[in-house]
Amino acid sequence: SNDYRVVVFGAGGVGKSSLVLRFVKGTFRESYIPTIEDTYRQVISCNKNICTLQITDTTGSHQFPAMQRLSISKGHAFILVYSCTSKQSLEELRPIWEVIKEMKGAELPNIPVMLVGNKCDETENREVPLTEGEAESKGWGCNFMETSAKTNHNVKELFQELLNMEKNR
Ligand code: GDP
Ligand code: MG
Repeated sequence: SNDYRVVVFGAGGVGKSSLVLRFVKGTFRESYIPTIEDTYRQVISCNKNICTLQITDTTGSHQFPAMQRLSISKGHAFILVYSCTSKQSLEELRPIWEVIKEMKGAELPNIPVMLVGNKCDETENREVPLTEGEAESKGWGCNFMETSAKTNHNVKELFQELLNMEKNR
């Protein structure tokens, strides 16, 4: 089909909704509003065709396991977000990554996955050095990027990179 489904995972508060809203609407808010689960659709051109980019912003680690598995089974690409200000948030991604690996199996090498360290603007409160995020992504065999939804650093690039990975596979 012409639907390209991207699923965003990560602990509560790391900035999943902020990244998606920054990309889709170009906005940012300082307040924290916990998400239920939201899907955003954007019509984009890909491989000279028109397709619908569907971005699912999940609730984070507290998502019901059955919901999590459903999101993973429907996903074509995954954004795994932690906050550069929280080592714990990086650790919380591991179980989700394990489920993705298990469910996608032999397909996995063909699935765009980006490990994202968000809030890279928070230099004073940084707990995860860039090199650590990078090393983690190498261990997982996925791509890596640091972003800031607040300053709009690497946000467009993140989604562009995922679409490029899809094209090049
Ligand atoms: P979610 O639970 O992962 O969806 O997180 P939110 O997108 O709701 O963001 C949680 C909090 O972090 C909010 O107060 C946001 O304003 C803040 N936030 C999100 N992204 C950034 C960022 O890149 N830099 C900074 N400094 N704060 C951010
Ligand atoms: Mg949210």
